[in-house]
Amino acid sequence: MSLTEFNTILPLIAAGFYTLLLIISIIRRVQTTRQNRWLLVILGLSLLWQFSLFFEAYLPLAHEPMLVLLASTVGIGLATAVYIEWQPRNRWYLLGTAVMATAVAVDLLRPSYAITLGNVTINSSQFILIATWVALSCLFITKTWRFYQETTFPWHANRLLFWYIALWVIFIGEAVILFNYHPISNIVGHAVRIAGVAGLVYAISSYRIFDVRTYLKRAVAFLVINGISALPLAGAVIAVQQLTRGMNRVQVALLIGTIVILGFFFYQPYRNLVEKLTYRYLLGESVNTSQVVRNYSQAISRTLDVQQLSFLIVSTLSELLQTNRGALMLVTQQESGGFEVDPIPALGRMVKQNFTFPASSLFIQTLREQRQPLLQYDIDFNPAYTTIDQPARLWFKEQSMEAYVPVMAGTALVGIIAIGPKNTAVPYQPGELELVQILADQTVVALQNARLYSELGNQNEHIRDLNRNLIEQNERLEIMDKVKSDFITIASHELRTPLTQVKGYTDILAAMNEENALTREQAREIVGHVNRATLQLESLITAMLDASQLDVDGMQLTFVKTQLDTIIRLATEPLIQAIRERQINLKLVGVEQIPPIQADFKRLVQAFTNVISNAVKYTPDHGAITIEAQQVPSQNGEPYLEIVVSDSGVGIEPKFHDLIFEKFFRIGDPQLHSTGSTKFKGAGPGLGLPIAKGVIEAHGGRIWVESMGEDEGNLPGSRFFIILPMRPAAAEGEPKPESTLRPAYLIG
Ligand code: ADP
Repeated sequence: MSLTEFNTILPLIAAGFYTLLLIISIIRRVQTTRQNRWLLVILGLSLLWQFSLFFEAYLPLAHEPMLVLLASTVGIGLATAVYIEWQPRNRWYLLGTAVMATAVAVDLLRPSYAITLGNVTINSSQFILIATWVALSCLFITKTWRFYQETTFPWHANRLLFWYIALWVIFIGEAVILFNYHPISNIVGHAVRIAGVAGLVYAISSYRIFDVRTYLKRAVAFLVINGISALPLAGAVIAVQQLTRGMNRVQVALLIGTIVILGFFFYQPYRNLVEKLTYRYLLGESVNTSQVVRNYSQAISRTLDVQQLSFLIVSTLSELLQTNRGALMLVTQQESGGFEVDPIPALGRMVKQNFTFPASSLFIQTLREQRQPLLQYDIDFNPAYTTIDQPARLWFKEQSMEAYVPVMAGTALVGIIAIGPKNTAVPYQPGELELVQILADQTVVALQNARLYSELGNQNEHIRDLNRNLIEQNERLEIMDKVKSDFITIASHELRTPLTQVKGYTDILAAMNEENALTREQAREIVGHVNRATLQLESLITAMLDASQLDVDGMQLTFVKTQLDTIIRLATEPLIQAIRERQINLKLVGVEQIPPIQADFKRLVQAFTNVISNAVKYTPDHGAITIEAQQVPSQNGEPYLEIVVSDSGVGIEPKFHDLIFEKFFRIGDPQLHSTGSTKFKGAGPGLGLPIAKGVIEAHGGRIWVESMGEDEGNLPGSRFFIILPMRPAAAEGEPKPESTLRPAYLIG
């Protein structure tokens, strides 16, 4: 059969191959359906193209095969977009459709219109079709190359590299067919295109693609080694040819013998040297693995620190495999059955984020059952791992690791060694992963020891914490104990002072009455003193009753709609005279702007009086007191009031910040205090703040103090924070009219 005859049946043979590929891709349909669909479209159009080539003479349109080829190029483009996960913008589709439509329209309307430039005549419609084909093919090839370069993970990149090469092969095959110079080139072109399309079928139907770069490197290494090794042979042949001219038989035999002997001694070492150098420079296989592994096992046997262990593992891996990312991850099985994975970063930027995988997670199960490294590539592309959920995928993405290697203690998974991509961007070879697995197996004992050691450390820390707590509680108990005994002193002191006054005045009254020397004026004055002393007694006893009520049944409140500024005004009213006398600067900020609130008017006035009178008592003359109020939203959207009473007084030691809200607690020696409600440091019975706290908490609010410490010289001051809900939950369902109660009645 002549070449021309063979060329006429060539489309049928090619169609046979495409049918075969079609059958294979239908049988091996494992990948996502979208990729497969486009593959079937490409194969279908390739078949159609072959038939249109075969029946070209009988077809109505001028360039029918070219049109079908163009359609298949579009199919290849769409398959590429799906494969490399490129989402072309709409304008690309528009542009593509416009170009295709123009090409087809020109072809249909003016199939044989020719332009003559000089002495070259070009069929314009064919020219447009070919130009469109070149443009589309170049676009898809460049896009794939871009995506390949942007991909950091070697196995992921490998997949794109393979696709890129397959596209080139198809493109070159088609080009050879289109610029058909010789019957042979047509056959070669078809064979090349079929090979390229077979590449696409392979890429789509098998999730793992062989390591393209290593294969290419090996092929180059093979050519280099054999080429250089063949040089001496070629040299020998030329030498024999050149030197034997004019020699007699004996001389020829001697020469050949010498060359054979030389070859016998030197050829093998020469070839070994060539192999070694080629492997070192081309494949980079020169690390002394066993030495590194030995050093590693010696080093890990000496460490008891998880962090250091992680560092050792990863630096060994970086030496062996040229990666600059990696981590040891601790795996802990939780009571719920889930597995908590806790990365201990060592080299490279790492996201230290724990993640808990459910017990059924395929990731954990595979590591436990197969006891083999798992590649990120598998997690992403192996159809078996599609069940891994989105949060886990996100975590993997953040970790950006290339492989996860299990560290097993018996049947338990205790750790994972994660390694990032190689610096050279070459994928990990099975041998290398096996090496990491060997390191992981060696690490188990060291890891278990380090974990036990760190657990011991944690336990110790916990015990130390408990001890510290116990000491604090003890100190508190001691103080409370002292408060109890001080109470007797304070109560008797507080009660005796007014009583002594009452007794003294009544004695005077009796004596003067006896002698009939009592004028009306004197009697009124003495009764006034007695009255004040009894009032003092009464208020003390009321405070004690209030405080005791807190323990019995909490505070009973009556909610009414009320204004904060009225409360503050009434609370400061009894203190105004003292504030004026002691020249204290009282400032109100934002109090008037607060809208009405639901509260127990009388109780709040009592609470604020207590807090503000403390501020007056513990601030020296000429000091300042500020009452600031503002509305703050809380997390649940309910508005709250924040009132801060700050003074420029003596301040409070941080260790007393909680205790001052305890009943009968007062700072300092109870004997040293002088009783007084507004004098500087004139102490009360230690009931003011506990009552204020009881009132505010009954409203659903909170009170606390902030102060740097007590210092009478520098006067750091104190800030009392009061948080009150605008609409307390306790007030629900009992709205009352605005208060019209009078002050005299309130503070009794
Ligand atoms: P008292 O009836 O003695 O004022 P409180 O319960 O009101 O009792 O206060 C308890 C203790 O808290 C006071 O004895 C005082 O030592 C301290 N204290 C309260 N307010 C202040 C303040 N503004 N500045 C400094 N110390 C304060």
